[in-house]
Amino acid sequence: MPEPDAPALSVVVPAYNEQEVLPEFHRRLASALEGIGMAWEVVYVNDGSRDTTLAVMSGLQAADPRVAVVNLSRNFGKEIALTAGLDHARAAEAVVVIDADLQDPPEVIPALIATWREGFDVVYAQRNTREGESWVKKATAHGFYRVMQRLGGKVQLPPDTGDFRLLSRRALDALLKLREQHRFMKGLFAWIGFPAKAVRYDRAARAAGTTKWNYWKLWNFSLEGITSFTVAPLKVATYVGLFTAIGAVLYLTQLLVRTFFFGNPVAGYPSLLAVVLFLGGVQMMMLGIIGEYLGRIFNETKQRPLYFTERYVPSRVSAE
Ligand code: UDP
Ligand code: MG
Repeated sequence: MPEPDAPALSVVVPAYNEQEVLPEFHRRLASALEGIGMAWEVVYVNDGSRDTTLAVMSGLQAADPRVAVVNLSRNFGKEIALTAGLDHARAAEAVVVIDADLQDPPEVIPALIATWREGFDVVYAQRNTREGESWVKKATAHGFYRVMQRLGGKVQLPPDTGDFRLLSRRALDALLKLREQHRFMKGLFAWIGFPAKAVRYDRAARAAGTTKWNYWKLWNFSLEGITSFTVAPLKVATYVGLFTAIGAVLYLTQLLVRTFFFGNPVAGYPSLLAVVLFLGGVQMMMLGIIGEYLGRIFNETKQRPLYFTERYVPSRVSAE
């Protein structure tokens, strides 16, 4: 809940090893928000960076009273860093979530605010293009959104939309009630509902630094990410099962070809072996899938706090 003297808008920025871009980000953010006519703060969340990101943030804070800094006790990953920032947002009216790497242009924020003023609680920025990303990444992202739409049911994920968006205070309060450990933010944003509208923009390539995503990470993320190593053995069963089943199918094919086209006599045991292997593989795959869910239940039952804050220095800005 906002305090009485809170600024109207909070901009939440999770950052992990972003020392090169942060000063430029802050400069562009400040100039983009010049004419919005509301008091604002920016909440920088240092997600356990291994470079000088925290020092850069502190420098920005010393120079600008609109800067708040949340320093997490270690690297928790973007989804949780984002949540930490939202928890610390003082905003009375709205929050904007944006990446630090300038792939989400701060210049789009006034358009988000304009749409919010029309009466929408959730205004998400939708990408027109994905510059500077390989076609493989574009294709996998495209496929992912299509699959999610299929599986979505009542909760539909808007396509080509990242975390870059604006939430009204009441939408934010709703979102902050969802405290699950497996935080698939795009799904949570969609789950809360409320009137929503898209604003289209062109996504830029990263300004500096490197992406923290690789394909294996994206894959996990797409399956709502399993990160705890304690559940990894459950996953192994999935793949052992899959490969056994594939091997069995190949073996069976070879067997059939040999029999039908070359007339080799079939001894009883090869076909038996093929069937046994195939079914065994499928069973292990299914066990793996159950394991995926079991692992998630395991993580949720621990009921741990999502993160620990090493330090929080609030902004020194108040309502206008
Ligand atoms: N990020 C974070 N913690 C992490 C990884 C990333 O806070 O463990 C931040 C990162 O600094 C950036 C945003 O999340 O502001 C998006 O990360 P990135 O650009 O690597 O992802 P992509 O744009 O490729 O999806
Ligand atoms: Mg990025």
